[in-house]
Parts: sequence; structure tokens; C-alpha cells
Amino acid sequence: MRYFILLACLAISFPSTINAQNLQSPSDFLGYELGTQFSRNHEVIDYFKAVSAAVPSHVKLEKYGETTERRDLYVAYITSEANMAQLETIRENNLKNAGIVEGEPTATDIAIVWLSYNVHGNEASCSEAAMLTMYKLLTERKDLLENTVVIIDPSVNPDGRDRYVNWYNKVAHQPYNTDIQANEHNEPWPGGRPNHYLFDLNRDWAWATQIESETRLKVYNKWMPHIHADYHEQGPNEPYYFAPAAEPFHEIITDWQRDLQTEVGKNNAKYFDAEGWLFFTRERFDLFYPSYGDTYPTYMGAIGMTYEQAGHGISGLGILNDEGHVLTLKERLTHHTVTSLSTVEVASKNAKQLNTEFAKFFQNSNLKYKSYVVNGNEDKIDKLKSFLDKHEISYEKPNTSKVSGYNYSTAKQGSLNLDDHNLVVHTSQPKGKMIKVLFEPNAKLSDSLTYDITAWSVPYAYGLDAVATTTKVSSTKPDNNKSVSKVNDAYGYVSKWNSMDDAQFLAELLKHNIKVRFTEKPFKSNNTNFERGSLIITKGDNKHIIDFISTLNTLAQKHEQPLTEIYSGFSQSTPDIGSPDIKLINKQKIAVLTGEGTSSLSYGEVWHFFEQQLGYPITSINTDDLSATNLRKYNVLILPNGYYGSVLNESNMTKIKDWVRSGGKVIAIDGALRSFAGKDGFNLSYKSSDNSSENNNLVPYAERERQYTKQLITGAIFKTKVDHTHPMAFGYSNDYFTLKLGSSAYNLLDNGYNVAHLDDTKVYSGFAGKDALANLESTLIFGEERKGSGSFIYFVDNTLFRSFWENGKLFFVNSIFFVNNNAYEL
Ligand SMILES: [Zn+2]
Repeated sequence: MRYFILLACLAISFPSTINAQNLQSPSDFLGYELGTQFSRNHEVIDYFKAVSAAVPSHVKLEKYGETTERRDLYVAYITSEANMAQLETIRENNLKNAGIVEGEPTATDIAIVWLSYNVHGNEASCSEAAMLTMYKLLTERKDLLENTVVIIDPSVNPDGRDRYVNWYNKVAHQPYNTDIQANEHNEPWPGGRPNHYLFDLNRDWAWATQIESETRLKVYNKWMPHIHADYHEQGPNEPYYFAPAAEPFHEIITDWQRDLQTEVGKNNAKYFDAEGWLFFTRERFDLFYPSYGDTYPTYMGAIGMTYEQAGHGISGLGILNDEGHVLTLKERLTHHTVTSLSTVEVASKNAKQLNTEFAKFFQNSNLKYKSYVVNGNEDKIDKLKSFLDKHEISYEKPNTSKVSGYNYSTAKQGSLNLDDHNLVVHTSQPKGKMIKVLFEPNAKLSDSLTYDITAWSVPYAYGLDAVATTTKVSSTKPDNNKSVSKVNDAYGYVSKWNSMDDAQFLAELLKHNIKVRFTEKPFKSNNTNFERGSLIITKGDNKHIIDFISTLNTLAQKHEQPLTEIYSGFSQSTPDIGSPDIKLINKQKIAVLTGEGTSSLSYGEVWHFFEQQLGYPITSINTDDLSATNLRKYNVLILPNGYYGSVLNESNMTKIKDWVRSGGKVIAIDGALRSFAGKDGFNLSYKSSDNSSENNNLVPYAERERQYTKQLITGAIFKTKVDHTHPMAFGYSNDYFTLKLGSSAYNLLDNGYNVAHLDDTKVYSGFAGKDALANLESTLIFGEERKGSGSFIYFVDNTLFRSFWENGKLFFVNSIFFVNNNAYEL
């Protein structure tokens, strides 16, 4: 309870319009002392609603979205009465100050601080602290609100939080049991950390693939706060972490951002020191990968910070940690409340300078690259446009047919000829620094020890040719008049196959029971050349569809898919439409393993991919139920990344092999390959790295961690060679840029198809250790091994990782619908 005394010391009396009788403390409102129970998400939100109703002069609550499980997402604006009266003016002034909105601000003396709580659902002290922070701001620290607007997102990931809290409430002892071995300290798979689709929302800020991130960015971009603090928890033995962050810092981070991180850290330290609380700074949490709750805001001009309290899903209401201390929820939420108020205090103290420096951040005249020009498939360009729209980054159309500069596909100076589908993004706009972070070919890394992936360059991820130029490319406003004309009566219709849009169109056709063929060879008809993978929809195949042509037109319009009419089954160049090389696509029945043994992140990526991107049904099967599952109901079995040791025991392995021999297809991702590599009857083999460059035994203790980085790949981009005549690679060219997430390497299949492999181990972007790199030469990236009538399909690199590597997704779709199409139909 010492903190109440501490916070009381901070309080300065101000005359107030807040009627203390209207304003209930969290404990009064909830009916239990804060920290003695976990509050369910709706209870947290109800408290915010009650406070905003009680003191609308100081608190405004705004719903900004809804989760997949229909929980509401809110932000609360907390400020003085005077500021609340002109909240919209303060917001506009800030955007004008940054140059995002045109016009002169009328004032720039208000600090805007955004506090985000509980992005990881099972780091559950955070939302409790959100309630207390708001209450203290309205009572003991009203002084801070005079020149500060505090935006609180009390529950960034409500689906995850409730998953944790509901589980905990169900199993916990009364009173709580502090023994780490008690059930209440062992969350079942998948835990409460991720959101509904099991995505880590603290890796999703930049990609915004999840509904929570996408809707949040709309409010974030409306406000563009000066400080963003992201509240987390770490293991129960690690006391507390706050800024300044660890190296590496991305090079665009300004001295001012570094300095203010230090000032916030020292202010936090002052309060922690006064209580004798332990903490650490400058270690572990770096500022590099752009998709975190600290880096994303930092690259948008804010002071972005991570706060980590000891606790996490393991800790429950109280746990005896390794130091013999009983860590309680009360203690955890108290610490987070103290750093929350301390952060707002620093903001208030520096309000004027925060505004001045914020404006400076958005001046981008000295960035090396002035324009990023991309060229390629129209659907991929459109995909990139919607990505840029999420961040309110503007783009134009280049006025030229050729640009010169750094060419991404050669990693050298060169030129790029532009065809009809391209766009240019200039760094001279306010968000130029974020553009640099997202687009630059190879982000400068000041330290190879980092917390996350070191490569993400957007042109590679979207599969577009690109050039970065040091002079600004002339451009005009883009035109957005994509129109698809309707088709008329014909023998059949052909649709291209290059993008996820094409794949979505196929999924929709199949959903409507329309029979679709694909070609394994290029052919020519109606004076048009069609590439491998092109979809063919014939009238003859679809006599069962009433109003076939109008249905087809409706679906083609919906998906903006141009169709080419063909008038005969006799092609100008073979194959003819009735050829065995033009195959009917089976409406595949897909099963996906989930549960213990699978990586929840990888399973979530597959789940989200089918439901929210492709629009095609799957059946998820728990690994516990595999032995009792009738696999003959499915054509495809997907094994997400994972550790399948006991899941793929002898009998399950035999069962899967038998099923494959009779025509089933297994798609194995990343770690799932370990279950087959080197095993009896498999051609797949692991390539082990025994060429460590130094004798590790002689490396000093303090150097071991750094020495180990030689064996690491922390997310790096490589150019692979593709056999695009194989159905798994239809729609691709000879080259494909892959994102390698680790150093696992597999030998080329000598009895199978090496659909994509690594020849050249040149690193196009990111960090790869010397030893790891040496082991990657001539290794498999994607492959197919046939067994009987079926196939094992291998994804050494996970193309669905965090769902942002757009250009890899079609390999996955091809594996399902095109690879080994002879496999049995149910
Ligand atoms: Zn966390």
C-alpha cells in the first residue's frame, strides 16, 4: 500500500469541477479491491463508461472497432475541462504542426500521450492499471491534464484478455495458490497472449492484418500522439523494464527521441528508487522491427516505449517467484500505474518542446532516397496501395517509363522499365521516415543482437520490381478507374493466375459450385496467350448452374477479375481445352492440425488465411484427436509449424503415410518438416551445420551470446531460383524473394521436386550470421515429394508468417489446388 502515500506526495491541489461523489474508484465500482480479482474485459469497459458518464467534462469515450469475437474496442480521452471543450482543435493543431494537414496551428502547447494496455491478453495487470491510471489522473494528478491530452486504450486485445481471465477464474484456488506448479499457473494451449486468430498484436502494428490493428490505426493516425507507451508483462523473476530501450535503434530515431526516452526512464527511476523497487533499462527490448507498439509510434514521430512488469500469464493473482518473493497482481498493477503517471508527468513538463520536436520529425528533406518506384502485377500494386492507405501514406503515378537508382532485384544501381502498373512513393511527405523504414532495401543494423526479424522491405514482400532513387521522380495523381467488362455467351472463359485476388476469385467460384479448370501448360486461344495456372471456366462444365453467365459476371465484377472469352475447345496452340494438361480443379477438403504440438502463431496464420483472406473452408483437428480422425474425409492435411514429437508417434505416422499413398496431400510448414526429415521412407533430409568458424569452447563466457549470432539468421531476404513449370509455382517467375526466419536448412530433394531453392546465398536484406550462411548453399525452400498417389509438400520458409509476406501466399494456394491434382477426389 506504500504507493498510495507515494502518489499522494505527487498530488498538487487544483480547483476542480470533478465531483468526487460522482467519480467512483475502480474498487468502489467493481465491488472488490482492485488487484484481488482479474476484471473481465466488459468490467474494465464498464468502468470507463461509468467514469465518462460521471465526468464528461474530463473524459470522452470513443468506440473505434470490434474484435472478431464481438468485443468492443475503445479509447478514452482524458484531459482538463478547457481542453475537452476544444478537443477537436487540439487534434487538428497537432496534425497541422506535423504538416499532415495543411494550415497553421492556432496553438502548440498541449502534449498528447497515448497509453496502450494489455496488447498481450495474458499480461493481465495492464488493464487493471489502466483503470487506476485514469482514476488517479482525474483525482490526484489533475494538474497534469492542464496541458496534456491522455488517450487510454484500456484493452487492446480484449479477446485474448478474456480468454486468459475466464480460464484463470475457472481454475484458480480460493484463496489463490502461490505454488508455481498449481494448475492456475499453467495456461493451456494457446494461452491468452494472442487475439482471436492467435496473432501477436504486438508484431502487427505495421502490417495491420488484424481487425484490432486496422481499426486502431485509423484513430492513431487521426491523433498522432507525441508519446506512446505500450504496457506488457514479462516473466515473474524479471522485476520491471522501462526505457531507454536497448540497441539496435533504427537510424531514423532522432537524438531528441533518445533523450526523452532517457528522461522518462529517469523519472520512472525516481519513483521506483523511492520505494526501493527493482528495475532495468537499456537491455533486451530494442527499437528496430517496425511492427511493435514502441517502434511503430517512434517511426511516426512519437517517443515510443515498452513497459514490462514481472508477471505474465504464469503469475495469476500471486506467485512465489525464484527469489522467494510472492509477486501479486496488486503489486504488478501498482508499478504500471506509477510509470503511467510518471510518463504523463514528463509529457506535461515537456509539452512545448514535444510539439516543437514533433514538427521537426516530419521534415524529411535530408533522406537519401527521395522516391521509391514499384512496378509489376496490377493486383499486387493494388494490395500495396491498400497497405499504404492504412498508414495514410500518399502515393502517385510516375510520369516516366524508365527510372534509375538502386534496383531491388539485383541489389545494384540500375534501371527499371515501367509498364502500366506501377506507383511511386515520395519521402518528401510528412511520413517520409516511416516510408524509409518500410521501403528501404536494407535497414542499417547497429547491432546484430536484436529481438526480432531484421528484414521486411515492402517491395520484396509484395513481389514487385522496385527502384529507390536519390532524386525525386516526377509524378501525377493516380487514377482509380479500374473497370471490368462483362462477358457474353461463349465456349468458355479464361482468367489469369498471378495473385491472391485471383486465388480469392477461384475460392468464390468453387463456393458457388462452378467447375473450374487450370492449365499445366501455356496455350493460345482467341489470339491471347495464357500462362500456366490460368483458370478456364467452360459453359459445358457448368450446365448445372442456372444463369451461369450472369452468375459468372457477378462474381467477376465483385472480384474485379477480367475474363477472356474463348470460342472453341480447339486452341490456336495446344493444349486444347479437353487436353489432360487442362485439369478440373478438385474442390479440396482441407484439414488443419491445431492444439498442443502446433505453434499457435502458425496455426493462427493458417486459420486466418483461409477464413479472412482466401475465403475457403477448413476443418481444424486437434492433435489429441488425430489418432481417432478419419483422414479419408479430407484431401489435404496441413501441419503448421510446431513440435510434433509425440503427436506424430509411430501409429499416427503410419496412418498419415498410408493416407498419402492413397492420394492425400500433406502440407508441412517450417518446424513440421522435422517430423519427416531423415525418417524412414523420406527423401527430405536436414542439413546440419558443423562448420562453426571457431572453437566455441575457447570463447569467453561474456562473448558466447555474440558468438552464437554467427549461427543465426534473424529474418533475412534471399533470392531463390524457382521452377515455375511446377504447379506449386504457377503464377511466379524464375526468381522469388523469400524471407528466411531461421537457419534451419534442408538438402535438395534428389527424388522429388525442388520447386524453389537457394543457390546464391547473397543477403538482399537483413542479418545472417557467417556460419548459418555457409550452410544455406544449395538448400530447399519449397518442394514436393510424391508417395504413392499422394504428396508431401514442404515449406521450409513459412510464407504465411505474420501474414505480411504477400508474395509467398500463392505458393500455398497452388499447393492445395494445383499440386498433384491426380490425387483422389472424395
Ligand atoms: Zn507483452
